[in-house]
Amino acid sequence: MKTNRIRIKSSQEIDILKKAGKILSLIIKQVGSSLTAGMTTKDIDEKVESLIQQYGVKPAFKGYRGFPACACISVNEAVVHGIPNQRIIRKGDIISIDIGIIYEDYYSDSAVTVGVGPVNPETQRLLEVTEVALYKGIEKACASRHLSDISHAVQSYVELHGFSVVRDFVGHGIGRQLHEDPEIPNYGQAHQGPVLKEGMVLAIEPMVNMGVHRTRVLNDGWTVVTEDGKPSAHFEHCILITSNGAEILTR
Ligand code: MG
Ligand code: MG
Repeated sequence: MKTNRIRIKSSQEIDILKKAGKILSLIIKQVGSSLTAGMTTKDIDEKVESLIQQYGVKPAFKGYRGFPACACISVNEAVVHGIPNQRIIRKGDIISIDIGIIYEDYYSDSAVTVGVGPVNPETQRLLEVTEVALYKGIEKACASRHLSDISHAVQSYVELHGFSVVRDFVGHGIGRQLHEDPEIPNYGQAHQGPVLKEGMVLAIEPMVNMGVHRTRVLNDGWTVVTEDGKPSAHFEHCILITSNGAEILTR
């Protein structure tokens, strides 16, 4: 892909994207800390919807290609795009919550995976490795580095710890659209692809499986699960490329 297809944001756009990211980070924190065993995934989505209303922003996912809810909520072996429903959260489950919002016509997108109650140690390690892998990728998101330096950093860290990165879904540019160029895979060789520039805004989002990297989609047409049924984790931040590294907008 040519670097010039990646939109460079103006300082006004960056101000809006910073505010959008801040609001989304507050929503994610409140939802993440409210999870308890006995809730349904639909209850979580209702909490997300009420917070979105409270902050005066709009949900980005509801209606997106027909998606029926404000949040993607993916439990255990679900990787991404889980549809909230009557499933009851139990102790030991891990819940990936992915939320997109629109603020003044600009998008923000972030995800966390949270364990409920005591989670088994190997699953806990999956959560930690996935979150650190996100930060390993963000460390490489500097002006004049190549896009694939992010991808390579994520994959290397994950595989060093014995887990696998999902290939079927990738991170993305973000701004006036939820998904802009470039695509940001979580795997690949370093020093390939477009050169990063100040003013680019990227959603970096490793999806990490305990077992095989392959996935399949359930009959609901949305929910992506691991092919081997083992757990999967997902963390996502929107970042801005600045003159001295990445600024995390959704922290
Ligand atoms: Mg997301
Ligand atoms: Mg995303």
